[in-house]
Amino acid sequence: MNLSEKSLAELSHLFQDGTVSSREIVEAFITNIESCEDEIDALLLTTFDQAREMANAADSRQKSGKLLSPLDGMPIIVKDNYCTQGVETTAASKILKGFVPPYDATAWKKLKDSGMILLGKANCDEFAMGGSNEHSGYKVCKNPHDLTRVAGGSSGGSAASIAANFAPAALGSDTGGSIRQPASYCGLTGLKVSYGRVSRYGVTAMASSLDSMGPMAKTPEDCAMLLQAMAGADHKDSTTPDKEVPDYLAHLGHKISDLTIGLPKEYFIEGLDEEVAEALRATKKVLEDLGCTLVDISLPHTAYAVPAYYVIMPCEASANLSRYDGIRYGAGQKGENLEEIYVNTRTAGFGDEVKRRIMLGTYALSAGYYDAYYKKAQKVRTLIKQDFDQAFEKVDLILTPVAPTPAFEIGRNLEDPLQEYLEDIFTVPASLAGICGLSVPVAKSSSGLPIGAQLLGPAFKEQRILRVGHHLYKAIHE
Ligand code: GLN
Repeated sequence: MNLSEKSLAELSHLFQDGTVSSREIVEAFITNIESCEDEIDALLLTTFDQAREMANAADSRQKSGKLLSPLDGMPIIVKDNYCTQGVETTAASKILKGFVPPYDATAWKKLKDSGMILLGKANCDEFAMGGSNEHSGYKVCKNPHDLTRVAGGSSGGSAASIAANFAPAALGSDTGGSIRQPASYCGLTGLKVSYGRVSRYGVTAMASSLDSMGPMAKTPEDCAMLLQAMAGADHKDSTTPDKEVPDYLAHLGHKISDLTIGLPKEYFIEGLDEEVAEALRATKKVLEDLGCTLVDISLPHTAYAVPAYYVIMPCEASANLSRYDGIRYGAGQKGENLEEIYVNTRTAGFGDEVKRRIMLGTYALSAGYYDAYYKKAQKVRTLIKQDFDQAFEKVDLILTPVAPTPAFEIGRNLEDPLQEYLEDIFTVPASLAGICGLSVPVAKSSSGLPIGAQLLGPAFKEQRILRVGHHLYKAIHE
């Protein structure tokens, strides 16, 4: 097997025991990027020169027995909304063109300090707003399984990079599904951590009460390795509690036959693609064969999650994006006075989807509408959280589809934003509740498109969904 097809865990073993060098690993991925990136458009920039230097340094550490961690010498691609010191960071927006951050996002810095090597910055929907990567300010990322289809979004470039063997791992961000959905569309594992498990510091803020940073990779085991280094309190993000970080890898091996898994009836509804429904039935059977008990449950407020999310998220996003005025950083435009500079900068710098959300959020927060929209949505959010709290009194975790269909054709939803928003129905409830979720590849459609299943767990129980995901993955793929 070609090196670039191997999982992160396999590559790490081969490097640690001296079978292959970090430089050989890095070159294998660079070769793929050079030959296929033109047709996939997963990356906004590459950092090959630095990557080669870092790989040589990792090889020296390997020879002298001074490796930094199990991730040392391993390449990774980072979503472009993470600040990367000295490397341009635009969040796929024209308004940030030319912005070179003087610091690293904490989640990335922790991986860098573990020896991971940046190969490039991943394309995404502008400021992570979207579910298809069609809203990138630069180019549309294609799905490596079918170039006429979307890779998903917003972390589409991260997902496509792994699916195309450009890197064994990538960083994504998930505010309403942006790690889990592209992972499902591209046949990968993607982990949305509980709110606060991983620092948000240094990642461009979309909706601050929902944003979560997490890993994407081929397998749940790989995601566990990455989370191990990323998780934990950070004094630069006051929403990260000082909670113990479990040994995620050690948990993977524990048995799962004592677990009860809930199937919420509100997630198996009309409109769910028949092949996705079939993939979920098959997944349920695999979990039963592994000894888990599957029971029907109800999460009664599920139908209100999309409307609540599409009020709360734009409200927070409109406030967060008010900082982009072209004065301190990014691509500012000229104007006769301050007002004109702002208007010209924001008109030229933001794309349509971002403008739409700024308008929706500004409207919903305005005097007279605040109570009717924002406050009401927050109350619905509490009800959705209570649905999960009650469910987790009866079950250990929850199994659902990730998205209603496999990856759709590029352009299908472009004229109809509402249709695109509705596709988030299975991912946004967990985001509103702040719990964790894992997208695991479980099947392929008749036309060869990947289909994922979602495992949801209580807040700060990543070890549980990773463990079940690991057993499920092995049962299906090994
Ligand atoms: N598709 C969702 C949206 O457009 C999720 C985005 C995200 O998680 N960043 O809001």
